[in-house]
Amino acid sequence: MQKNDTNKNKNKKKFSLTGKIFMGLIFGAILGLIVHYFVPEGYFRDNILVGGIFYFLGQGFIRLMQMLVVPLVFLSIIDGTRSMGDTETLGKVGVRIVIFYLFTTAVAITIALLLATTIKPGVGMNMKVGSNNYEGASGENISFVETILNMIPTNPFEALAKGDMLQVIIFAVIVGLIIARMSEKTETIGNIVTEANDLMMKMTMGVMKLAPIGVFCLIARTFSTLGYDVILSMASYMLTVLLGLGVQLMLVYMVLLTVFVRVNPFTFLKKYFSVMTFGFSTSSSSATVPININTLEDMGVDRRISSFTIPLGATVNMDGTAIMQGVAVIFIANAYNISLDMNDFVTIILTATLASIGTAGIPSVGLVTLAMVLTSVGIPTEGIAMIMGIDRILDMTRTCINLCGDAVGTIIVSNKENMFDKEKYKRKVES
Ligand code: ASP
Repeated sequence: MQKNDTNKNKNKKKFSLTGKIFMGLIFGAILGLIVHYFVPEGYFRDNILVGGIFYFLGQGFIRLMQMLVVPLVFLSIIDGTRSMGDTETLGKVGVRIVIFYLFTTAVAITIALLLATTIKPGVGMNMKVGSNNYEGASGENISFVETILNMIPTNPFEALAKGDMLQVIIFAVIVGLIIARMSEKTETIGNIVTEANDLMMKMTMGVMKLAPIGVFCLIARTFSTLGYDVILSMASYMLTVLLGLGVQLMLVYMVLLTVFVRVNPFTFLKKYFSVMTFGFSTSSSSATVPININTLEDMGVDRRISSFTIPLGATVNMDGTAIMQGVAVIFIANAYNISLDMNDFVTIILTATLASIGTAGIPSVGLVTLAMVLTSVGIPTEGIAMIMGIDRILDMTRTCINLCGDAVGTIIVSNKENMFDKEKYKRKVES
């Protein structure tokens, strides 16, 4: 009898949420490929299947996740800062996480530049300036002072309505600190925030349950509409980016986790897998914020830290994007036979770090901010047209790395503040 129960439990475990999301990803990819190659174009494929069912369920799921982002970030930051109470801890966490984000982004671009100068994608393409029509963003620059000023909301309600993450974070931190300082006088409002935050967490868990279907439809749609023929001609560029992303994950993040937190980095990969899958299927760091915070809590990270560092990271820390931009710059320069010197490389590292800060955590924006990096070293922005066709698949993969960077930074910082539960981290994954 007991044996039977254990077997039942084992079977149950097989279908944990992570397992189901993974199955959604694999089956979605297979179905997408089948639709792409075997279902003839026409009303059924384009309007009923791809543009109908897949689109409706996939977008419905993304919108549900997006619905959670602003209220969840707003409430959990107020709740977190209120219960942390002191500006000193908050200041330390803030400085540490910003340093981590900037450092890892600079490392990411350096890796990208090293790999791209070694592999030399784009050499021999002999492109001529003016041969591509690209009417995307020009590389216009916003000044540093302006960027900092823009973080202060002139109207917090507008910031909330527009979902301007940095402005929301600043306002929420101030409100949280003042609630903490006024203690008894604001007890009621503090309790309301805590309860509303609990409500949002419950809602997040509910939406998460739909993730396997959402992921399945998003991936099926993407794979059925991808242009596979261009992939081959861009293979060297794509492989260099993928290699860079792999190095950043397996060498940089895994080593940082081992050195600074002294935990098994493979446990991270295993437990964080569902978040990566979600980032992969949505290509959006922003939409992934709620599931990111929830999963990190299951891994032992105190929410008071992650509710602050994760939305911040989803807005300003894009290591995967930086890697794509580093490789793209070299690729386009090679294709146009433009040679770059040491000064150019330093400029690329600086501007790509800034571009990563300015890249919003939504699909394809990295391609837009790439214009700024190209302009900084005098490479024609029309070169972006060459990589546009295959960017979707790279966007999916670099978003996973963007998320991992935020998560690893958060674990390291929370460990430093003694707000990381290593025992919970080591515990086996439960459904
Ligand atoms: N899709 C990326 C993200 O959300 C941004 C980008 O590189 O386009 O993290």
